[in-house]
Amino acid sequence: MALCLAFGVAPAHAAFINGQTYVPLADWAGANGLKIFWLRRGEEIAATNPTTRLVFDKDSNTAEINGIHVALSFPVANDHGNILIAQFDLDNTVRPLLFPSRYLKPKRIATICLDPGHGGRDSGNRVGGFFWHNEKTYTLQLALELRDQLRRAGFNVILTRTRDTYVDLPDRPALANRFGAGLFVSLHFNATQTGKNEVAGPETYCITPVGAASSNAQGEGADHGATTANRVEKNSLLFAYQIQKALVQNLGVNDRSVRRARWAVLCDAQMPAILIEGGYMTNPTESKRIYDAVWRRQMAAAIVKGIVNYQKLNAPKSAAPPAINHPPVKPPPSGTSTHPLRTSGSVGVSPARNTMMN
Ligand SMILES: [Zn+2]
Repeated sequence: MALCLAFGVAPAHAAFINGQTYVPLADWAGANGLKIFWLRRGEEIAATNPTTRLVFDKDSNTAEINGIHVALSFPVANDHGNILIAQFDLDNTVRPLLFPSRYLKPKRIATICLDPGHGGRDSGNRVGGFFWHNEKTYTLQLALELRDQLRRAGFNVILTRTRDTYVDLPDRPALANRFGAGLFVSLHFNATQTGKNEVAGPETYCITPVGAASSNAQGEGADHGATTANRVEKNSLLFAYQIQKALVQNLGVNDRSVRRARWAVLCDAQMPAILIEGGYMTNPTESKRIYDAVWRRQMAAAIVKGIVNYQKLNAPKSAAPPAINHPPVKPPPSGTSTHPLRTSGSVGVSPARNTMMN
């Protein structure tokens, strides 16, 4: 994507591009104990420390965060060899994924609402020729498999449909809200237009931040106001990330990234909510897997792992032993923290700088 660059605003090399404040990646990385180096000069840059690896591509709004692709709201820019990143993306995507404990609103998850996409007169994607495959069939079969596995893992599970019935979109998150579900998971399978059959791999969507366009929009919708889902937006992002990571790592599939969209079923959810596009029915290899019960069982198992990993991140702090009758807690020596960006002890050393860069 070509950017209309209008540089020259701030002394600290910050810039204002297409209505967004951009900051030098090198400055932000330095303030957070990350070293940056080119993977491909002028094109692709990495920011790393012993526990974290971020990769950004010039003009791209997909970043790699610890091995998983994540959509940014605005493309990174290259100003004469300096990679710039939108402050909006640092605030809404990068930092929440690197510092989850600062952003999560911890809550115990008892009930999970599964939403098999489409149903009844709404077939969803239809792919085939001699025999037509309907998306609605496979979303339901995956949901029933996932329900059984989640119950075995100790969760209560409710479904927006258990048969081939039509359910209005607003009724789906409404059910989750009414039952006080802790998570909402909408299940879908993808399709491309003819001639793009090579596209494959899962995509996991969560709500778009206020002020940004969705991943599936052409820059449109940035003026969209806040939805109910934006109240727990950071939880949803971290949930989506754990699911995408579990799918990619456990199934060995192509990573089509964590993405943002204001899908109707996501907007009204009061709990962390995601929509999984579990793969492409238009890809010859992937479609065979989607239609195969053994593969769907493996996919369900991967989703359960992602949910359990999110639950660990999201565990209420009350599970920790009480502070009384314990000696005062000493800060760990530099380099021993398990926090992803605190290994060099450089986080927060300069409050003024932190305010600017974080
Ligand atoms: Zn669908």
